[in-house]
Amino acid sequence: MKSISLPPTTRLEDYIEYRKEINAEVNLASARCAADFDQDGVYRNLKKRIDQIYESYRDLLSGDDVYVFKELNELEKFLLSISELDQTMIPEAIQHEKAHAEKANELGYDVKGFSCVLMVDKNRKITYATVTHIQSEGIIPSEDLRNMALAPENPSYSDKYH
Ligand SMILES: [Zn+2]
Repeated sequence: MKSISLPPTTRLEDYIEYRKEINAEVNLASARCAADFDQDGVYRNLKKRIDQIYESYRDLLSGDDVYVFKELNELEKFLLSISELDQTMIPEAIQHEKAHAEKANELGYDVKGFSCVLMVDKNRKITYATVTHIQSEGIIPSEDLRNMALAPENPSYSDKYH
């Protein structure tokens, strides 16, 4: 695993905007597919839009602040090793991603892995966001997206966008 670089340079508010834009594109693509648009075209366009969004945030989101894991327990160990984080919240964060992953499996999707972005908030406090990555060869139907997003007991702000 790559070594931890602290403090992170990615700002929480930039990451939140980035996630919002990505989620909006994913939701739009699902809606277009449900409305019988050409699926391959929608998928190609989605990938292009995600690349464009990533490009426009490139200078704000540092790749150094992104850590990827195959298993949830690796992610948990990683978070627990960072003493600057509120340790009491970590088990809940892990349970949260576990709920996403289990729902994905239940719906027949493979979970590729998990990632964590370390960030600083407005008070220069170190914080993080975790993401469960699903294997998909095309557009995921909006009902599945919603079910996976809302699987945890306390869906995040970003989860509720789906
Ligand atoms: Zn979530």
